[in-house]
Amino acid sequence: MGNKVIGRKYGKIYGWHRFRKKTKCHWYEVIYDLIPTRHRLHAINLSSSDFCTQCMQLDTIQHRLTQCGQAPAQWKWTQERLAIILRTSTNHILEEWLQRPSFYFWPLKRQHAVLWIIARYVQFRIQRETELTTQDYFNFMQHTRWKLYQDKRRFEVVGNYLSVLDYPYR
Ligand SMILES: [Zn+2]
Repeated sequence: MGNKVIGRKYGKIYGWHRFRKKTKCHWYEVIYDLIPTRHRLHAINLSSSDFCTQCMQLDTIQHRLTQCGQAPAQWKWTQERLAIILRTSTNHILEEWLQRPSFYFWPLKRQHAVLWIIARYVQFRIQRETELTTQDYFNFMQHTRWKLYQDKRRFEVVGNYLSVLDYPYR
């Protein structure tokens, strides 16, 4: 896959260029369906089974993103934060956005904040080293936001929308 293809594809994600390469690269793997899940490896005889090593369910990308271990609670919490930003209900925060972020929200700062949260969620969920607890997820989001806030231009990128991440601590 050449850079040209990637450029064309993420050109459709509004506001994407405002983020650093490091933020984007994990999400690329999900958007382009490049994650070597055991379901996929098993299909080409590179894995002896197609079960998740942590919970013995079928190991697919959807499984890793929203079903394995504490993922349902983490996704629900993320949906609630996005629903606050978008002033809607959690029913309108779609799981398919994790793999196809083809939405566009106004104003642009809101779009950037939604993209940032989803990119971070995906980045967190596709790590596989250890079991990913919900407390780990909160800590990860706080830490990565802190890093983002070291950049003086962040207000013009995401405004104050990411303050929704503080809710569990109130
Ligand atoms: Zn699992």
